[in-house]
Amino acid sequence: MLDESNETHLLESLGPKKWLVTGAAGFIGSHLVETLLNGDQEVVALDNLATGSNANFDAVRQSVGEARWKRFSLINGDIRDLSVCRVAAAGVDYVLHQAALGSVPRSIDTPYLTTDVNVSGFVNMITAAKDSGVKRFVFASSSSVYGSDPRLPKTEGNEGEPLSPYALSKSVNEQYSAVFSRCYQMESIGLRYFNVFGPRQNPAGPYAAVIPLWFQAMVEKKPIFINGDGTTSRDFCFVANVVQANLLAATSTNAGAAGQCYNIACGDRTSLNQLAELIGRAVSKHGQQGVMQPELVYRDFRPGDVAHSHANIEKATVLLGYSPRFGIKQGLDFTAEWFFSQQH
Ligand code: NAD
Repeated sequence: MLDESNETHLLESLGPKKWLVTGAAGFIGSHLVETLLNGDQEVVALDNLATGSNANFDAVRQSVGEARWKRFSLINGDIRDLSVCRVAAAGVDYVLHQAALGSVPRSIDTPYLTTDVNVSGFVNMITAAKDSGVKRFVFASSSSVYGSDPRLPKTEGNEGEPLSPYALSKSVNEQYSAVFSRCYQMESIGLRYFNVFGPRQNPAGPYAAVIPLWFQAMVEKKPIFINGDGTTSRDFCFVANVVQANLLAATSTNAGAAGQCYNIACGDRTSLNQLAELIGRAVSKHGQQGVMQPELVYRDFRPGDVAHSHANIEKATVLLGYSPRFGIKQGLDFTAEWFFSQQH
C-alpha cells in the first residue's frame, strides 16, 4: 500500500479546489487524479484516449471509492481543439498538463503527429489556461531536453541540442511557458520527468517503456531485449515522486518557484544491466522461480537515445521542497505487485 499521507495533508491544508488534469487516462495522469481525489479535490479530466485507457479510470474509481469519485468528471476530447481546452479550463484553479504523445522512437516515426499534439496542443492548453485565469499551469516536460549535452548530472541551464522531434516538442513547450510568463505574467512550471515508472504503465505496443516491457517479458518468462551493451543508464523515478512534484509545483508559495523548469527524478542512476537484475529480484518475490537470471538479448542502440541520464534534483529540492520518497527498489516492488495483480 502506497503511503500518500504527505500529499493528502498538503491537499487538506489547501482546501477544496478545482483541478484540470489533461492526459488523465494515461499512466501518470491517472495517478495524479487518484491522489487529488483522495485529497477531496474536484477533478476535471481531459483526454482523447489516444494512448490512455478507461481501464485506468476504473482502477482509480475502485481505489478512491464512490463518494470521492463523484468529484470527478471526464471530457473526452482532443487538446488540438482550442474550444475543447477552453471548456476544460473554465473555472479551474490548477492545471496539470500531461497530455502528449510520449516516446522518442514514436516521434522519429511520426514527427508531424508528435508536433501537432505536443506543440499545437500545448499552445491551445496554455492559452485556455491563461484566458480562464488559472492560478498555476504545471506541465510535463522531459529529461530529453538535455539532448546532446553529455554533462552529468543533468542540471537545469545545461541543455544541449534536441535529438528527436519529441525532445524538440518539450523544449518548445518550455519556451512557450517562459514567453507566457513574460507576456502575460502567467504562473507556469515545467517538470522535466526522468524515466517514470510504476503501476498502470502500459507494457503493450511498439513504443512501450523499458520497465513495463521487461516486467511483462519476465512474467511471461520471455527473453529481455537490451538496446546497446546494457551500460546505458537512466535516473528511473517511481510515479509517486512525480505526483508529489506536481502538487508542490502547483501550490508552492515560494516567490521564486514559478516561471521555472525543474528536474524530477531520484538523483541516482541505474544501468540497463542493473535494471534487468533488479526487476528479476522484484518478480522473484512473487514466487516466479528462475527469473532472477532472465535471458538477456543485446541488440543495436536506438537512434535518438542518449547514453546516460542522471538528474541533479537540487533546484526542485530547494525551490519546491521536493524530496523523492520512493527509490528504485521500492518502486519496482510496488510495480511487481501491480503486474501480478493483473495476471488473473
Ligand atoms: P501516457 O501515454 O500514459 O499518457 C498520455 C495521455 O495523454 C494519454 O492518456 C493519452 O490518451 C493522452 N493524449 C494524447 N494525445 C492527446 C490529445 N491529442 N488530446 C487529449 N489527450 C491526449 O504517458 P505518460 O507516461 O503518462 O506521460 C504523461 C506525460 O509525461 C507526457 O506529457 C509525457 O511526454 C511526459 N513524460 C513522461 C515520461 C515517462 O517516463 N513516462 C518521461 C518524461 C515525460
